[in-house]
Amino acid sequence: MNFIVGKNLEKKYDRTTVFQNINFNIKKGEFITLLGPSGCGKSTLLRCIAGLNEINDGDIYIDGKNVTNRTPKDRGIGMVFQNYALFPNMTVFENIAFGLEMKKMEKKDIEEKVEEMLKLVHLEDKMNFYPSQLSGGQKQRVAIARSLATEPKILLLDEPLSALDAKVRKSLREQLKEIQKKTNVTTIFVTHDQEEALTISDRIFIMDKGDIVQVGTPEEIYTNPKTVFMAEFIGNYNILNHEETAKVFEGRVLGNIAIRPEAIYIKEVERIYNLDNFITKSGIIKDFSILGNVIRYFAECNGVRLRVDLLNRGESKLYEIGSVVDLMFLKKEIKHY
Ligand code: ADP
Repeated sequence: MNFIVGKNLEKKYDRTTVFQNINFNIKKGEFITLLGPSGCGKSTLLRCIAGLNEINDGDIYIDGKNVTNRTPKDRGIGMVFQNYALFPNMTVFENIAFGLEMKKMEKKDIEEKVEEMLKLVHLEDKMNFYPSQLSGGQKQRVAIARSLATEPKILLLDEPLSALDAKVRKSLREQLKEIQKKTNVTTIFVTHDQEEALTISDRIFIMDKGDIVQVGTPEEIYTNPKTVFMAEFIGNYNILNHEETAKVFEGRVLGNIAIRPEAIYIKEVERIYNLDNFITKSGIIKDFSILGNVIRYFAECNGVRLRVDLLNRGESKLYEIGSVVDLMFLKKEIKHY
């Protein structure tokens, strides 16, 4: 049973069309991410679902009801923004209690609910702090708690982690996923960060220039991108046109291909491979960057530059710039497009 449905949605600003003919279905309890490059229309679509922006055409259904002409308040939605939007003159407790007071809930019930929310976001000890006394990550946890306190049907998150530094982002996205699974609230999350989308979502809607171009689970999206745009955007794929393919594989593979950086290995003598699974070509390491537990090498093979990702197994395993290596292309991962 679909919980949120968008039918033929269209949105224009003056004469500029942001999107048209958008259709989607979301199930109850799903964690959906709208992922796409900046300016593709993610926030606008989210704001239209929330009722903060009007649509020019189409219909939005929530829990079986057409809510197209309803106010944000009547849609049962909680929203979290990048900039937290907390009340600076209220404590953490008062911020979370605010929506409940508006609903004229009993004082005792408010206290219970706020305590439950503080526990959920692990901020029990900060209840009397003001937002200015909190870190960015803590502020965003208060914002999430405040949104969930009123028990919305849907939680909408517009780039909620973008203002935070890398380490806090990672830990908060894990917490967010945990909170979502605990509360089972249907969630739509907007980001332009592929890694974030891949780690947090049940399904991802990829957007490009106002279109939803692919929908799938993180695994489907990552391993089977439908277009070159998707392959480049999602997996850092190496995209080779037919001339480059011909140069690299010297005629053994033809046509335009895409191959993920981790599907190219560097041959190590002590490792045993089934060589039938690979096409091996000589290459030179031109550069590398360390991406945490992965090292991304830039290798040149017959004049074509390729990205090659290896697990970072410590300094002793680093190939120096200028090293001549055997690049092994996993045959089954060479995708034609
Ligand atoms: P994203 O969230 O993917 O970065 P947005 O939904 O913010 O994209 O924007 C999509 C397009 O709509 C952009 O071209 C942007 O310039 C335009 N846009 C967004 N908000 C407005 C507005 N209030 N008035 C006019 N154009 C807007």
